[in-house]
Amino acid sequence: MASKTFEYAPAPESRAILDLKPSYGLFIGGEFVEPTDGGHFKTVSPATEEVLAEVAEAGERDVDRAVAAARRAYDKVWSKLPARERGKYLYRIARILQERARELAVLESLDNGKPIRESRDVDIPLVAAYFFYYAGWADKLEYAFPGRGSPKPVGVAGQIIPWNFPLLMAAWKLAPALATGNTAVLKPAETTPLTALLLAQIMQEAELPPGVVNIVTGAGETGAALVDSPVDKIAFTGSTAVGKAIRRATAGSGTRLTLELGGKAANIVFEDAPLDQAVEGVINGIFFNQGHVCCAGSRLLVQEPVFDVLLGKLKERLQTLRVGDPLDKNTDVGAINSKAQLEKIEELVTSGVDEGAEIYQPECDLPERGFWFRPTLFTGVSQSHRIAREEIFGPVLSILTFRTPDEAIEKANNTPYGLSAGIWTEKGSRILHMAQRLRAGVVWANTFNRFDPASPFGGYKESGFGREGGLHGLEPYLTFERGSS
Ligand code: NAP
Ligand code: MG
Repeated sequence: MASKTFEYAPAPESRAILDLKPSYGLFIGGEFVEPTDGGHFKTVSPATEEVLAEVAEAGERDVDRAVAAARRAYDKVWSKLPARERGKYLYRIARILQERARELAVLESLDNGKPIRESRDVDIPLVAAYFFYYAGWADKLEYAFPGRGSPKPVGVAGQIIPWNFPLLMAAWKLAPALATGNTAVLKPAETTPLTALLLAQIMQEAELPPGVVNIVTGAGETGAALVDSPVDKIAFTGSTAVGKAIRRATAGSGTRLTLELGGKAANIVFEDAPLDQAVEGVINGIFFNQGHVCCAGSRLLVQEPVFDVLLGKLKERLQTLRVGDPLDKNTDVGAINSKAQLEKIEELVTSGVDEGAEIYQPECDLPERGFWFRPTLFTGVSQSHRIAREEIFGPVLSILTFRTPDEAIEKANNTPYGLSAGIWTEKGSRILHMAQRLRAGVVWANTFNRFDPASPFGGYKESGFGREGGLHGLEPYLTFERGSS
C-alpha cells in the first residue's frame, strides 16, 4: 500500500527557550545539593542519544537527608499553616506552570521522546490543571468527607514515579499530597528526571517553604531506599513486579501504600459503532505516547461482522502516522523512551510472530540514531499468546474478535490486570451493560485516554489499589480524627 502521508516541511519547536545545565544536584530542603558520595548519571534524548545533562544519584544517606528535611518542614511549617495558605502556594505553582508551559513541554519531549504535540497539548496543560484542582480542595477538606471526623495529614509521603508521563505523574502525586498538608520526597524515573528538576526550580520561584517538596534523582535503588526510609506513606506508580516488591517491603510496617501499576486494556468495538470515530479512538488508544501508557487500549476486541472493514481502515490510518523527531510539531509517534524498553518491545513482538500471530507494520523511514519502533498491528491473536496477556508498553496492538457481548466481557476480563477499558457502540444501554461488567477502574465510552483532575483513576487486581484524581485522590493522604472537629 502506498504511503498516504503528505510531505510536510519540518516544523521543529525551538530549544532556545531551555536553560539546560550540564549538571543537576538533588533538591533537598529547598536547595540543590550535591549527593553525599558524588555519584552522577547521564540522561539522554531517546530520539538522538544525545546526552542532555548529568544528574545526581541519591544514595541511602541522601534519601535519609531528604526525608529528614520533609519531616522538619512538616513539623515546623507545613502542618501549622492555615489550609488556605497551602492553597495559595498551590495556585501560585499552577500559575507558574502555565507561564512556563512551553519550556516544560520542550524539555519533556527532549528527555522523554514524546511528540511535542502531546507534551504541549496534553501533559503540561493537565499538570497545571491538577495543581489548580487540588489547590481548590486545600481549605475545603472538612466538606470533602462529611461525617468522617476531622481530616488530618498523614505526614511525610514518599512518591515514586515512572518515565512515561514524567511531569504529569509528579503532579498527580505532589498536588494532592500538598493540598492535604503532607510534605513529600519524590523520586522521578532514571531516564526522565529533567522536568521534575525544573519543577523544583518552580517550587523555589513560588517560594514554597524549604523541605515541603524534595526531589531525589536516581535509579531503582534510590526508590528502594525511599521505600525503606521512615516515611508515613508510599505512593508508587510503575510496574506490577516492583509494586509487589514494595507491598512486601511495607507489609506490617504501618506505612500507608497506594499502587498504580500496569494494564492490558480491552478496547471493544461493536458492529454498530461509528467506525471512523472508532478508528481514531483505537489509534489514539494504542499509539498515543508510543503506547507507553498504563491504560493503553492494547487489546482490540472487534465484533466479527465489522472485523474486515475495521482492519482495512486501521491499516490505512497507520500509513498516515508520522514517526520521527519528537520536537517536530507534525510528529504523531515519537521515540521509544529507552534502549531497555525498545528491547522489551522487540522481544514481545518476536514472541507474537513465533507464536503464530500475523504482523502488520506500515512503511516508514525511521531515524538512524535513537530508539524507534514502527507502529504495529497483530491479527490472528489468540488469548493464550503472550502479546495478548503481557503488557508490551509500546506501539503494538493485538487484535482479537468476538461475537456476543458476553464473549467480549469474558475476553476483556481475562487478564490479571484491571486498569481501563473502552466501549464503542451507538447504544447507550449497551454501554451501561458493559461498563457494569468490565473489571476495570476506568471505562471510556466512544472515546479513549481522556483524563480530568476531577475524575478518579486507578486499578483492580494486579493494576494496583488506591485512586488518584478527584475527591478519591485526597483520601490516601488523610487520616480522620473522630470527635476533634
Ligand atoms: P518500574 O520499573 O516499576 O519503575 C517505576 C519507578 O520505580 C521508577 O522510578 C523506578 O526507578 C522505580 N523503581 C525501580 N525498582 C524499584 C524498587 N525496587 N523499589 C522502589 N522503586 C523502584 O516501571 P517502569 O518500567 O519505569 O514503568 C512502566 C510501568 O509503569 C508499566 O507497567 C506501566 O503500566 C506502569 N504505569 C502505571 C501507571 C498507573 O497509573 N497505573 C501510570 C504509568 C505507568 P528507575 O526507573 O529510575 O529505575
Ligand atoms: Mg531521558
